[in-house]
Amino acid sequence: MQTFTGPTYEMAVTQFDIAAEYLGLNQEVRERTRVPKRALIVSVPTRMDDGRVVMFPGFRVQHNLSLGPCKGGLRYSPDVDLGEVAALAMWMSWKCALVGLPYGGAKGGVCCDPSQMSRGEIQRMTRRFTQEILPLIGPEVDIMAPDLGTNEQTMAWIMDTYSVQMGHAVPGIVTGKPVTIGGSLGRREATGRGVFYCMQEALQLLDVRLEGLRIAVQGFGNVGGTCASLLHAAGAKVIAVSDIKSGVLCRDGLNVPALRRHASETGSVAGFADTDPISNEELLTLECDVLVPAAIERQITEANAAKLRCRILAEAANGPTTPEADAVLDGNGIFIIPDVLCNAGGVIVSYFEWVQDLQNYFWTEEEVNSRLREIITRAFHAVYQLHTREHISMRLAALALGVRKVAEAKTLRGLFP
Ligand code: NAD
Repeated sequence: MQTFTGPTYEMAVTQFDIAAEYLGLNQEVRERTRVPKRALIVSVPTRMDDGRVVMFPGFRVQHNLSLGPCKGGLRYSPDVDLGEVAALAMWMSWKCALVGLPYGGAKGGVCCDPSQMSRGEIQRMTRRFTQEILPLIGPEVDIMAPDLGTNEQTMAWIMDTYSVQMGHAVPGIVTGKPVTIGGSLGRREATGRGVFYCMQEALQLLDVRLEGLRIAVQGFGNVGGTCASLLHAAGAKVIAVSDIKSGVLCRDGLNVPALRRHASETGSVAGFADTDPISNEELLTLECDVLVPAAIERQITEANAAKLRCRILAEAANGPTTPEADAVLDGNGIFIIPDVLCNAGGVIVSYFEWVQDLQNYFWTEEEVNSRLREIITRAFHAVYQLHTREHISMRLAALALGVRKVAEAKTLRGLFP
């Protein structure tokens, strides 16, 4: 029986198979590492403001628990399904292992459109989803965090729902929550900041200065918005950004702080002064120095990969590039910072937040950022070294390091009974 299906899941499995083949994993550990450990499918009955009750399908997939508790975001999106969540959980496994965190990978999703829901509806759905998956989560078992369509407020509601059930505050049940209730300084910006740090390392290797570089960013939410702000502040020229509704282009460089204000006031980048409209498809093939996909999966495909005109592809989103596109990109001179490395800043600072919560001892933002830089830079160079030493792609190098560690943990722990 095929439990997990769909194009994103197939993509994650294909990537795993390539890495497993390269590593020469034996059949037993290969099978055990390839398949998610467990998944829960729930229906989330939610009372809407007009009195109706809507059943939202919800999912939580735990890919592996061999190295510690599971860790991974929760996504609210109209398209999310079990296969997509399973793929994202697999990528979390390789990511956590690659950067050396004591976590397995997990992911969650609720199939809904938060842009069409009121705050009250989102809160009721979030609380009921938390209740439904309660048997599977806990600060020592599975810890959620924000992802596409969710944010600090979502995490605060999850923490409150879980804490009410336990009878005391349990901040370690989620990361990416507001600082006031046990969140970490620097977590909100961590993913975008990690992308920025990776980019700095890549530029140094290529002997290119950041000042004046032309950047295009697909997705202007938490990750894309932060990344664009940091690049703008460092002197780069962010020439195009897009969101689900529209995109804007200004070849002289966008005023990113003003654009972020405009997007938060109007709900989109569309209509920002002194810009030309640009579609998502056009943005991806725009001539630029760095392309940052920071929205959803499978944006760079066999169909547009050959048309990319960037020098660096910094994968801030999860799974933006398909294996078929990789085959086109391989050896064409574009320096790829693969997703499991590039966007690992989020889970690294989530780990810091969890550690701070467990110890009730909180760090300064400088400590958070400098430890983030240390860990992500070390991982970047480990990937780069394997890439150059073995003449394999940056993606295969990153996946191989992550997969190998999970496979080693499974081998060392053995098979019960
Ligand atoms: P977000 O909800 O804050 O922002 C998403 C942005 O992408 C929005 O601007 C939205 O309009 C845009 N978007 C959504 N669908 C789109 C589409 N079909 N075409 C073009 N644009 C689209 O989400 P986020 O937290 O910034 O996450 C973005 C990506 O980064 C996702 O792939 C997510 O899995 C990944 N990621 C996020 C984190 C994190 O800490 N939030 C960590 C690691 C990876």
